[in-house]
Amino acid sequence: MKTIKDLDITGKTVFIRCDFNVPKDEDGNITDDRRIRGALPTIRYCLERDCKVVLGSHYERPTPNVYEDRYSLRDVKIRLRKLLKMADEITMASDVVGEETLSKAKSLKAGEILLLENLRYEAGETKNDIEFAKKLASMVDIYINDAFGACHRSHASIDAMARLFDREHRGAGFLLSKEVNFFQKTLENPIRPFVAVVGGSKVSGKLEALRQLLDKVDKVIIGGGMAFTFLKAQGYEIGNSLVEDHLLDEARTVMIKARKKGVKFYLPVDVIVAPEFSDTVPSKYVTSQEIPENWMGLDIGPASSRLFRTVLNDAQTIIWNGPMGVYEMDKYAKGSLKMSHNIADANATTIVGGGDTADVALRAGDVEEMTFVSTGGGASLNLMEGKTLPGIEALKS
Ligand code: AMP
Repeated sequence: MKTIKDLDITGKTVFIRCDFNVPKDEDGNITDDRRIRGALPTIRYCLERDCKVVLGSHYERPTPNVYEDRYSLRDVKIRLRKLLKMADEITMASDVVGEETLSKAKSLKAGEILLLENLRYEAGETKNDIEFAKKLASMVDIYINDAFGACHRSHASIDAMARLFDREHRGAGFLLSKEVNFFQKTLENPIRPFVAVVGGSKVSGKLEALRQLLDKVDKVIIGGGMAFTFLKAQGYEIGNSLVEDHLLDEARTVMIKARKKGVKFYLPVDVIVAPEFSDTVPSKYVTSQEIPENWMGLDIGPASSRLFRTVLNDAQTIIWNGPMGVYEMDKYAKGSLKMSHNIADANATTIVGGGDTADVALRAGDVEEMTFVSTGGGASLNLMEGKTLPGIEALKS
């Protein structure tokens, strides 16, 4: 896979597939612009080489062919202007590959940027449609993918479009290369002890990643809703806690595999329980052995946080995916925030992957302390599962 540095891009028209799928509040304000900031090195690199730059990204999931205002990338344009300290040099058209866009792309001058509208406004994007990809490709000389967060999807701007360029005219941007290198190098050659911290709601979503990780790590810490399936598989009463009964056998198999491989496997020893999924009802700390009937575990307890801190003490590499509890409610956020602090304080290479997990690290004020916070949740999980990503495959093909 070539990177942008391997290509001759000077003076050319360059398409950069970015991931501008940024979180917004109810009023439509961007609440976290790390994904936009993450794309800046590649954009600046092109501008410094007198390129004409065409930026493309998806934003959420609009109904195809319906140009609903709330899915527009206009706010991204405003933020880009601010971050790049540019004004009218960054323009937008009102469509994705319509006449207005094509003519604006044609009249671009060196050092100017055209931001396309939300690629998913067009039905062809998610269908990996070759005709749509051809229209996108017709605007530019060079294709760059810098959208790690979207690389696990076979979409037109990620897959079909990349394949329309030869190896001298397509490559990975700085963000994409960094993300892939980090995950691959860490997973292939970690400094030990290597600890995986896995949380989040369900075992099902992370089962394959867990299986793969067991071949690589020295210790696994499980938290979040998925811990209850493992606790139940060990014979604990878990009340009304989240559980996937059909995966109890799988959970047992994972724990047996861990034992056979000598991987230390840690589950929460205490939890915060509440009678309902709510932060307005009384809650209490109980040991994992004493979860009352009809109550549900919504966060790990303080003893688990202390235990997990000890487990992380000698770690040299830590990979973290998934919160320890329902962190969206302040009352059940402590376990996740403490985990974030513990990981950030460790003298280790620390890799945080997943949108929710990155959000926890951000709320905890720990992002700067982490070695690497991945911008792509699904994509990083796929890499942990040992899968190839369509976006990377297309660049390599
Ligand atoms: P995931 O997308 O699988 O990483 O899961 C993230 C979600 O898991 C977050 O929205 C959390 O609120 C949720 N979660 C974490 N712990 C629990 C729990 N004990 N019970 C229910 N949901 C949980």
